Amino acid sequence: MIDLRSDTVTRPSEEMRAAMAAAEVGDDVFGEDPTINRLQALAAERMGFEAALWVPSGSMGNTIAVKLHTEPGSEIIIEERGHILNFELGAAAVISGVVARSVKSSNGTGHLTWDDVGPAIRKNPPYYQSATKLLCLENTHNFAGGSVLGVAATRDLCENAHSEGLKVHLDGARIFNAATALKCDVKDLVAGCDSVTFCLSKGLGAPAGSMLVGTSEFIEEARSWRKRLGGGMRQVGILAAAGIIALEKGPGLLERDHRNAKRLANGLAAIPGIKIDPESVVTNIVIFDSAGAKLPVAEIVEKLRDRGVLAIGFGSQIRMVTHLDIADTDIDVALLAMTQIVG
Ligand SMILES: *Cc1c(COP(=O)(O)O)cnc(C)c1O
Repeated sequence: MIDLRSDTVTRPSEEMRAAMAAAEVGDDVFGEDPTINRLQALAAERMGFEAALWVPSGSMGNTIAVKLHTEPGSEIIIEERGHILNFELGAAAVISGVVARSVKSSNGTGHLTWDDVGPAIRKNPPYYQSATKLLCLENTHNFAGGSVLGVAATRDLCENAHSEGLKVHLDGARIFNAATALKCDVKDLVAGCDSVTFCLSKGLGAPAGSMLVGTSEFIEEARSWRKRLGGGMRQVGILAAAGIIALEKGPGLLERDHRNAKRLANGLAAIPGIKIDPESVVTNIVIFDSAGAKLPVAEIVEKLRDRGVLAIGFGSQIRMVTHLDIADTDIDVALLAMTQIVG
């Protein structure tokens, strides 16, 4: 099967499995797992932050960050298609008791500008309104097709948010994809944020795990919340061993995924009935509209499966994501299948 549903489907490499088998471990709840400690130090250094904490999932990292930057009854501002708002089961409401004020990205990229954010802020509101505490960013933006937010735009949002007394959390599940597309150091891309999560388990190829980075004080509090949420995981160095390889070697492998996504987008654009602007595909996520095709999305997805290609359909759109386990030739197979089904 050519699995284009998500970059979460990557399986650990032989090198990762060997490192996992040989990993030095200890009880991480006591802070005694040397391999997780090494990964956390490496992640903090790589992101240019004081400290980092391994978390079982990106969702848990985001949940902890929202919790620490807010208080119950306060508001967060997030783009309307954001992961924290749409794909985390309302954790921000359940765990943190916050109201999410969703804002539409006026430039259509999925990324907010300060002109979008400013009017949505409630600063020093009267006693009967809740105050805005946090701006949530997402880079790359998953459901806007892996679009990227640049260094200057990120800095501008952070500076303005801070001057209004807001914290900034970046959901950087695919921040290394963004840095790769922008050809910049990931440190420069996250520098103004108060906290960042990024996934080891997606394009970087680890079997599980995400990192949350912030100040040392923030990460100490995050450790308590991780335990409270059931995320204290004992001999987790087994997973950290794979995470270290993902973090050291994964970023350098993303460019190929982006080239494959671009080729996929260009090929799809040439199929009658398919609507996609290949220019907008700059990382590893390809979202196209098949409303012009004669078949409903569910049927296209099913026929793709019959031909050995897995994709995800939603509404009139289909999402395909390239990753480590997708070979260049798999793109040709997927395009041929789409041409046969739709063309
Ligand atoms: C995948 C993803 C997450 C975290 O997902 P988990 O499955 O909880 O690890 C967070 N934000 C974005 C944008 C994502 O794509």
